[in-house]
Amino acid sequence: MKGMIEIDRELCKGCSYCVEVCPKKIIIIDSVFNSSGYFPATVKSMEECTGCTLCATVCPEVAIKVYHLTEKD
Ligand code: SF4
Ligand code: SF4
Repeated sequence: MKGMIEIDRELCKGCSYCVEVCPKKIIIIDSVFNSSGYFPATVKSMEECTGCTLCATVCPEVAIKVYHLTEKD
């Protein structure tokens, strides 16, 4: 794994921009809605994340944080 992300499911409005832009196609829309009634994005296979930051860049709600992992992580 070279990267990982955290999605704040309460900030997310389920627009799917991150789902569309992820080159690894590892982000999906959850089937459980958040407290605002939106179905938020979630990650299905974090081990494939490259830490490219595209998802965080396109998110209009600034709901995604990206972490870059060192080799020993
Ligand atoms: S950082 Fe890149 S690879 Fe990882 S989830 Fe976001 S868009 Fe996908
Ligand atoms: S781009 Fe942001 S607001 Fe849109 S689905 Fe992804 S995390 Fe949610």
